[in-house]
Amino acid sequence: MAQRVAQSDGGNKKATRVRVAVRLRPYMSKPDEKDEGPCVRGLDSQNLEIVNWRNATETVKYHFDAFHGEQTTQQEVFLSSVKPILPHILKGQNASVFAYGPTGAGKTHTMMGSSEQPGVIPRAVREVFNLVKTEDEGWDYSIGMSYLEIYNEKVLDLLSPNSQDLPIREDRDRNILIPGLTHMTISSFSEFDKHFVPASLNRTTASTKLNQRSSRSHAVLLIKVVRTQRILPHRQQTGKLYLVDLAGSEDNRRTGNQGIRLKESGAINLSLFTLSKVVDSLNSGTAVRVPYRDSKLTRLLQDSLGGSAHSVMITNIAPEYKYYFDTFSALNFAAKSKLIVNKPFTRETMAVPTLPVKRGRDDHDAQGSGT
Ligand code: ADP
Ligand code: MG
Repeated sequence: MAQRVAQSDGGNKKATRVRVAVRLRPYMSKPDEKDEGPCVRGLDSQNLEIVNWRNATETVKYHFDAFHGEQTTQQEVFLSSVKPILPHILKGQNASVFAYGPTGAGKTHTMMGSSEQPGVIPRAVREVFNLVKTEDEGWDYSIGMSYLEIYNEKVLDLLSPNSQDLPIREDRDRNILIPGLTHMTISSFSEFDKHFVPASLNRTTASTKLNQRSSRSHAVLLIKVVRTQRILPHRQQTGKLYLVDLAGSEDNRRTGNQGIRLKESGAINLSLFTLSKVVDSLNSGTAVRVPYRDSKLTRLLQDSLGGSAHSVMITNIAPEYKYYFDTFSALNFAAKSKLIVNKPFTRETMAVPTLPVKRGRDDHDAQGSGT
């Protein structure tokens, strides 16, 4: 702990807030489906609205740190939501980026992307190498990677496919570590890519009614930057960056899951539900206990989510009506997760009629409505 660089505003409540961005993917209608149009739309760079399910002539409005509309490019998402936090990991601080949302809403597109449209992960890793190159104040840098998935509350090493469930430990300095997890030193982006691409294929996937290649696990990429002072006393600082493609947030009571799938669903929901409680208690700024220990995902992220860490949650949503209720609950999670449990539709009495012309006035802040 002593070798950690203290954040200038380390004692400030603001330091623990998780930045919440929402990304709406483009409408994808199939020729054989009747085209109902989108049920959600952006208003500006921070606000969006969704049709009120009780009264389709009304909408519910939400306010976020950032809203990325369907035209937003991968580059824009990276520049506005991820790039700003990266310099901190070269200074011994921790950071995390999550993609949250229902299956089919664009989490993997956002995090991994494609070779034509690379996502947050390849862009962030490239940027870390760039930052290290330009940094030269008498420190040597070493960059390493680990890659794991949390599946059924088990921690599995994606760089060592046949490994068993790994334990999560905490050292005396309260750093979270996983003994036995593969850690590879990487000296360039192409070296990273060489390990990352085949390992991603090891990710456990199974189909559900909603999506043939629905991902049932949380994929967690860790990029670790260790910097060592060239001269005595050779101080050393470690910064960790977690890049997380979460399992689908859809309500499994409606996806027809049975048996083993249902058990998986329960476990997936435990991690996601605990994540929502953690984000909520961090953002509420009250002194309640943050329930990191209640799931594998949040236990792993304990030293990189909240505290002096820098965190961004990118909630991915889809515009089609068939996603309506999952979109609604994803937005409520993003706005203030506790509303999901207690008062899912608190906002309905404050909803305003949809007007033919978009107007900025009358915007209500969903985050402020929880009492
Ligand atoms: P998830 O990982 O949340 O299940 P995917 O990332 O697999 O969702 O996205 C579902 C489909 O939508 C994919 O075919 C993906 O390429 C496409 N898609 C998602 N987001 C976008 C976007 N912003 N622009 C274009 N296509 C997108
Ligand atoms: Mg996916």
